[in-house]
This record gives sequence, structure tokens and C-alpha cells, in this order.
Amino acid sequence: MAQTSPSPLAVEVVRAEGSRIWDAGGKAYLDLIAGISVCNIGHRHPKVVEAIRQQADQYLHVLVYGEMVESPQVRYAELLTRHLPLSLDAVYFTNSGTEATEGAMKLAKRVTGRTEMAAFRHSYHGSTQGALSLMGDEYWRNAFRPLLPGIAHLDYNDHDQLSRITENTAAVVVEAVQAERGVVTADAQWLKALRDKTLETGALLILDEIQTGFGRTGKLWAFEQFDIVPDILLLGKALGGGLPLGAFVASKEMMWKLTENPVLGHITTFGGHPLSCAAGLAAMQVLLEENMIEAVQKKAGLFQKMLNHSAIINTRHAGLLMAVEFESFEKNKTLIDECLRQGVLTDWFLFAPHCLRIAPPLNISDDDIQLACSVINKALN
Ligand code: PMP
Repeated sequence: MAQTSPSPLAVEVVRAEGSRIWDAGGKAYLDLIAGISVCNIGHRHPKVVEAIRQQADQYLHVLVYGEMVESPQVRYAELLTRHLPLSLDAVYFTNSGTEATEGAMKLAKRVTGRTEMAAFRHSYHGSTQGALSLMGDEYWRNAFRPLLPGIAHLDYNDHDQLSRITENTAAVVVEAVQAERGVVTADAQWLKALRDKTLETGALLILDEIQTGFGRTGKLWAFEQFDIVPDILLLGKALGGGLPLGAFVASKEMMWKLTENPVLGHITTFGGHPLSCAAGLAAMQVLLEENMIEAVQKKAGLFQKMLNHSAIINTRHAGLLMAVEFESFEKNKTLIDECLRQGVLTDWFLFAPHCLRIAPPLNISDDDIQLACSVINKALN
């Protein structure tokens, strides 16, 4: 098996449930990262497992995306669009977040007839070559050149640089919260000015909610906290309820551009797999029916109140997407390793290795939050 992490956690997992993962030796880990914002309703919710079982009894893969009517896809697209602005009424299901980014970039080219794009420093939109071209960090990009030409990288929250968005720009790709930068939230006025600039120039606004969607920031979608509606929305991670799934969502009118000249403008064999859609549909229903989003800010507040050690330089949070900042990666990594020994699973951020990632299942109990924080505070001592 290929291994690209030079220092993997190497925990041999045998079971997971709720906010816990168990290893082969029977040790339990309290999960503070939820598979990087995937397991928003916890691991193996019974309703999700049941939906997967039922779908497995009916059919698995039958044919490439879009050829047959597969009810898990249709029903999930219906639920998603019911909870989105009217203009976002067509869902293209993919395998992953990065494939959603690729599809959206292709769609923006077809809709606008333009090729240039803009993205932001410290942004992460995926690891395939189109998404990698958008990535806002030269260290992660450079080894894989040549990448896509015509991509401008602008500073996030910087009003002056919006002037680099022009009549040649096909799309601007942005996160409402830059997760991998260590949770940096957009300034509301700036994001509105960015939206205005795209409307003025005819560029499409592609909003990446792959990490922030499904209640993570305390709203179903992070963009609800801002006065904007994107042209294309990117979804992934929690979208699949623990199975692989991504999506780009746009208007039907725009999506038709992928139906002609050429036909089959985006092809995917497994995108929108019926098991993934059945699991994702069940997970979103659980998220809404069990009102999990309502408690997110309160739970985030409890973390903030309890994490008050003098070694902490700063904490930033957007709901239950939290970054706890330390003076160095070494300090942070020592803490992560010690927490793991004590049975608490945390992580760092790609572009902020000195920040501790805390993004647990949204239904983590208050007792587990207290337990986790006391382990972290003790480890810091
Ligand atoms: N966009 C954002 C904001 C992400 O956090 C990620 C995954 N970390 C992606 C895109 C890519 O998703 P995937 O790993 O499923 O390709």
C-alpha cells in the first residue's frame, strides 16, 4: 500500500461509533477531527448503516453517472436543493471533493467562454491538477508544474486585489472560511465586495463548502452567514455520510452546458454511487431531524472556555471548526502525539502546522468535550 505520510498515526482501527474509534488492542480514541469534517453526525449512525444495508440489498453500481434513474441520487438531489437557494437547482454528483472542483472549473469555462481564474492564497480545493493549480501555497504546488495557466492568486480579505478580477476571469474560487489556513473566516464586507465584483465582470463565483458544509460552522451552509449566493457550490466530505461523495451544484441552465459541444461534458464512472447517495441522504436527514446544528455554537463555546492554557497563543473558530494556535509545529506535534497516547485524536492543518485542529462530530457530548479539554490541558502541562 502506498504511503505518502512520513509519520502516519498507524493506529490499526477495528471499530468506530459515535465520537469514538477503537484500535486492535481495544484502546478507545475520542475523535476530535471526525475524519476531517466527514463524520459530522458521528461514526456509523444506525440510520446511515441501515440505509446502506437497504441499498446494498437492492443494487450497487449499475452504469456510469447519469444514464439510469437511480433513486438514491434523485432523492438526495431533491433534499439538497430544497435546502439551497432557488438558483442552485442542479446537482452533479462526483466521487470526491477534488472532482467537484474539477467539474466546476470545467463548467465555468463552458458557461463564460473564458479561461482565466482567480483563487486565494492559503486556500485548498483538492489535490488533482486543476484543483492543485488553484491551491494557494507554492510549497505544495511547485513540484507538480506545469499546472494550469492563467490562474491569479489573490490575498484573502484584501479589497485592493479584487481589481485583478476582470472581464477575462471565468471564475473566482473561494472558501467562506479558509479551513486549512487554520480557520480564517472571510470578512463579510469583503466577501460581498467579491460577489459584486464577479457580477460586474461576469465571472462566476465558485464557493467551496467541502469542509464547511453540513452544519460544521453552526449553519447548514457557511455562506448563510454572509449576504451572498454563489453561482456554483462545491460539496464533499460530510455529503456522503461516511462514504465517498462530492458534488458541484449550479443552475439547471448552466449545467446544460455540459450536455452539448461536447456531449458528456464531465464523465465519471462511480460519481454519485448509489451506496454513497443512500448514506449521504440518510446522514443529512439525521442532521436535520436531530437538530444537531442548533447546539454547535454552544459546544464550540464550551471548548473555548475550557481550553485556556497559557501555552495557547490564540484560538479561532467557525462553529465546531476550531484552530488552537501554538508557537511552533514542534510544540503542536508533541501535543498531538501525547493526546493520541491519552486516547484523544487531533491533528494539524495543512497550511498552519502550528495549529491544533479540533473539528469533532457535531453531536459530541458535553462530557466528552470536557474530557477532551482536560486531556489537552494536562498534556500541555
Ligand atoms: N476543498 C476543501 C476546502 C477541502 O478541505 C478538501 C479536502 N480536505 C477538498 C476541497 C478536497 O476534497 P477531497 O479530499 O475529497 O478531494
